[in-house]
Amino acid sequence: MAGLAVDFSALGLSEPLLKAVAAKGYRHPSPIQLQCIPAVLEGRDVMAAAQTGTGKTAGFTLPLLERLRHGPHARAGVVRALVLTPTRELAAQVAESVTAYGRYLDLRSDVVFGGVSANPQIDRLRRGTDVLVATPGRLMDLHQQRALRLDQVEILVLDEADRMLDMGFIRDIRKILALMPERRQNLLFSATFSPEIRRLATGLLHQPVQLQATPENRATPLVEQVMHPCDMARKPDLLCHLIRDNDWQQVLVFSRTKHGANRMAERLDKEGISAAAIHGNKSQGARTRALSGFKSGEVRVLVATDIAARGIDIHQLPHVVNLDLPNVAEDYVHRIGRTGRAGLNGHAISLVAAEEHELLRAIERVTGSPLPRSEIAGFEPTVHSAPPIDLSGGRGRRREGGGASSGPRAGRSGRDSSREPAAGARRRSRSR
Ligand code: AMP
Repeated sequence: MAGLAVDFSALGLSEPLLKAVAAKGYRHPSPIQLQCIPAVLEGRDVMAAAQTGTGKTAGFTLPLLERLRHGPHARAGVVRALVLTPTRELAAQVAESVTAYGRYLDLRSDVVFGGVSANPQIDRLRRGTDVLVATPGRLMDLHQQRALRLDQVEILVLDEADRMLDMGFIRDIRKILALMPERRQNLLFSATFSPEIRRLATGLLHQPVQLQATPENRATPLVEQVMHPCDMARKPDLLCHLIRDNDWQQVLVFSRTKHGANRMAERLDKEGISAAAIHGNKSQGARTRALSGFKSGEVRVLVATDIAARGIDIHQLPHVVNLDLPNVAEDYVHRIGRTGRAGLNGHAISLVAAEEHELLRAIERVTGSPLPRSEIAGFEPTVHSAPPIDLSGGRGRRREGGGASSGPRAGRSGRDSSREPAAGARRRSRSR
């Protein structure tokens, strides 16, 4: 699977899950995983246009397991996380993934579907289940037989929701929803978004993060990463130049400070490039206005701090610029997860001053590959520091000269073939 040159370890998953991922042989998260895992870990509802082949199952299963492992185990008869699927085959497949990713965790998972005897299922469910994968019809039967309780479900996943509706499960789904507590996390995956799915989503999801992924055989959105070295003082000039020169129409810019975000937005406005800043000091009204202006295209550049950007639903942007590198290397991954649209490549551009080279190294350690660098003519840095460590296993760092052809598009990050998955995850049977 075409993963991004980011390590799973950057996404906030803990050691037992990283070990299980390594044991599966995955090297890098797929685009949907890159976006979905942090969102689910944050406790957000998710609405994802993703079909089989995108890595969506790991996209929801890994963070779901991570969240469950921090709570108390399921008590008798209780289900903590419910994954509904349209078919037995998909249920079995998802359950297999839950087992594989949860192999180093002490969580109990199970799968129930029709066409087989219910009695063994009833016996198993009595003990309580942390993750239950089920088809809607059999789940309703089992509930009617009082084999399980859904009033303590913490996380609900509807997988292939469009197929579930096509197969006439909507009434069962509505009944199941009514059995669950109102306060819970909801994740909805669907290949298509018909009006019926949207209606279901509207009643179900609370301010969802919206994600989109395309399967492998179509153009997969990739994040092209590049860094432009330049002097700290020239960053505002360089940003104006890049936006103008490349004619970027929708750009999310990250600033480390509120003050910096304000200053940059003012400067852009002065240059005739419509911009707004969002950060913690702005009123909710001002933030909402800035965001809707940005979404509608009225505001061309949104300058945000990490915290402000995290709470809002702006994903799948064409361009994300790091005006400053984040202090925490993992935030880099969150930031670049905002870009990459279906069928098109996203661009993540970092403006890096010599003073930030330590931060750059930390990011390169987390992502597992060096950021391709490209100097922009007229903005070459006058202050240099020691070159970043070579993480490419001996491959030379690509240096591209400035000039018309070396815009951000020139610097696509290669997949990092030199890194191996974390070594030797030992197989052991699960204790529960
Ligand atoms: P899914 O879209 O969830 O049905 O997954 C499609 C296939 O991709 C499955 O065989 C997964 O095991 C595999 N897969 C999922 N995530 C990754 C990854 N990050 N790298 C490589 N393969 C993956």
